[in-house]
Amino acid sequence: MNCGSRCVLRAHVTKGVVTRIETDDLGDDTFGTHQIRACLRGRSMRRRIYAPERLKYPMKRVGKRGEGKFERITWEQALDEISGRLKKTIDTWGNESVYLNYGTGNLGAVLSKSWPPSSTPVARLMNCLGGYLNHYGDYSAAQIETALPFMFGDSWVEGNPITDIANTKLAVFFGNNPGVTRMSGGGIMKDLLHAREQGKAKIIVIDPRYTDTAISVADEWIPIHPGTDAALVSALAHVMISENLVDREALRRLTVGFDEDTLPPGIPAGNSYTSYILGKGPDKTAKSPAWAAGITGIPEQRIIQLAREIAGAKPCYIVQGWASQRQANGEQTARAICTLPLLTGNLGVQGGNTGAREGGVSLKFGSFPTLQNPVKTAISVFMWTDAIERGKEMTDKRDGVQGRERLVAPIKFIWNFAGNCIVNQHADAGRTTRILQDETKCETIVVIDNFMTPSARYADILLPGTSNLEEDDFAMHNNCSAMSFVVFTQKVVEPFFESRTIFDICAGVAKRMGVEQAFTEGRTRDQWLRKIYEDSRVMHPDLPATLEEAFAMGFYKHHHEGPPPVAYKAFREDPEKNRLKTPSGKVEIFCKKLWEIGHTWELAKGDRITALPEYLATWEGISDPLRKKFPLQIIGHHYKQRTHSTYGNVDWLKRIAPQELWINPLDAEPRGIKHGDKVRVFNDRGATMVVAKVTPRIMPGVLSLPQGAWYTPDANGVDQGGCMNALTSQRPTPLSKGNPQHTNLVEVAKA
Ligand code: SF4
Repeated sequence: MNCGSRCVLRAHVTKGVVTRIETDDLGDDTFGTHQIRACLRGRSMRRRIYAPERLKYPMKRVGKRGEGKFERITWEQALDEISGRLKKTIDTWGNESVYLNYGTGNLGAVLSKSWPPSSTPVARLMNCLGGYLNHYGDYSAAQIETALPFMFGDSWVEGNPITDIANTKLAVFFGNNPGVTRMSGGGIMKDLLHAREQGKAKIIVIDPRYTDTAISVADEWIPIHPGTDAALVSALAHVMISENLVDREALRRLTVGFDEDTLPPGIPAGNSYTSYILGKGPDKTAKSPAWAAGITGIPEQRIIQLAREIAGAKPCYIVQGWASQRQANGEQTARAICTLPLLTGNLGVQGGNTGAREGGVSLKFGSFPTLQNPVKTAISVFMWTDAIERGKEMTDKRDGVQGRERLVAPIKFIWNFAGNCIVNQHADAGRTTRILQDETKCETIVVIDNFMTPSARYADILLPGTSNLEEDDFAMHNNCSAMSFVVFTQKVVEPFFESRTIFDICAGVAKRMGVEQAFTEGRTRDQWLRKIYEDSRVMHPDLPATLEEAFAMGFYKHHHEGPPPVAYKAFREDPEKNRLKTPSGKVEIFCKKLWEIGHTWELAKGDRITALPEYLATWEGISDPLRKKFPLQIIGHHYKQRTHSTYGNVDWLKRIAPQELWINPLDAEPRGIKHGDKVRVFNDRGATMVVAKVTPRIMPGVLSLPQGAWYTPDANGVDQGGCMNALTSQRPTPLSKGNPQHTNLVEVAKA
């Protein structure tokens, strides 16, 4: 699944049926080679693969698209139909009208990988046929992945592993909740708990919610209004600069743009970071703690004290999860948080961090070659509904199209493998479903899944894929800091009814399209698996001699000895010899490329892209006048019942962790809402019904609804499933054109 962990499951099988799931019980559980124990989601796998929604046969839509009416067809009919439609689409509209939608249901696999699109068997099939329209970014981290490379030069900006908290004085978490997103034996929460025991670090969690991570490890929770982290950082910088607490020597050696002396050539005076912070820049506004208090909701005195604490702790570990950046100003937030370690000299040191997500240690392993995509055009992962509706209007400077100035075709054919983003996980489900219901726009949707999900209902051809327990594969884990591992995910039962692997499905289409040899290279799925294993043995000669022995072993762990690796250590020690890939060779607090983009791109009204990591107030943010009508901000947090929408249909998990709207007593009481009441949450985009959890664990003025619940609209279009995306917006963020799914204003009423 797309969980930040990858835990080990062991299945008891009786007469070809899984009757019980257990987890790892090997070893002495010493930290660093500890057991990879599963959470309750993994342990409920039996209820998942035998859920009533499980697909059994290939099917073809017979009602209107989205109505959910299908008839059973044979595999021969299904593959013929797909091949015929695919050929017609390519002949009529070209390869760039075929799109592989985002799907992370099989993220942990190698041969059945469902994301990134370029690593999937569907990509290999399409590459044999002339290519497809690709996407960049992802729903998890689109904004930070786009923003930080401008600052650091690398395509992916690493951090020190979370185990380095054992070597720090103070750890500050922004919107990071590994207690839910990276839990259990396979996740970094285990590393964090261990680091907390080993060291003496104080831990502060900054988040609108008092999260499970905050409960487990934090000394203090500082609630903050969603979308205002950059305002807080600016005010912290104001205190540090005013009180001369910044590390000027490190700033001079490692960065550009902190002060007027280090601005790039050609940039007018008054545009440095210091000028912005002290109110000497174009906006003439000092980013004082009093200014930030009115935006963030954090008291002025606490901001002043926090600045002194961060500046005084040597070292200090500053880390951000991906919640803070999933906002309309997320690119700014991501860069702003990464400015803090630069101001305080914490980049490239043991016990410090980049301010980005905590790092991990990778384990190399073989992969399934998917060939080169002849098409170089890509859209943002979030813009596919627009590419259906107004494809040929979309341009590079307005819509973030890459590889071309303008799209040459709208999306006419969608492959959706192991993904629930066609409806459920994409924003504004109401708009999405209206676009998809018009069959003259996107002409064909092929869905390959285990279940009749809200997205699968929109398929034209619906194919039953095998579950993880019904096919051999490998599952990589690279997120841990103390160990990395691969799980040999052995097939334990035969495919459910007529389910097929994605490899066999693609091979079937390839045969009909005349590219079978190019797709398979004469190998069966099993032969490819053995080849990948042999390739991996070259990298790891200590792996067992045969695949059978590997499956018998179950998993392969790699323990990392020594102190946690330090990101950007070499750069810090000798920035001239180890220049970054930025134009200046240094970390760019002021980024000239962004300055140019901000002056040349066509942006939506109110949007800005700035060279500095400024705080930008946004639509549906804390200061939007729309709050008169919809006074509450709402965010969608990850929840232990599901990994995104996966496991959303498992009855046991629904009973353990029911879908609930978090609301503070100060917001509930004036609305007459009591704990356990059914409520209606709504804005101009839609409405959803859910039960209220009245709790001081969410700050006043903010609601939180666990994301991933299955969208279940009634006849009036009101969602009955508590689905966050009944409320979210499809307006993309300015730079990455990513998903601002935590930027929303709503009202709530007792139902
Ligand atoms: S859902 Fe995540 S934490 Fe739970 S068992 Fe699976 S991989 Fe582990």
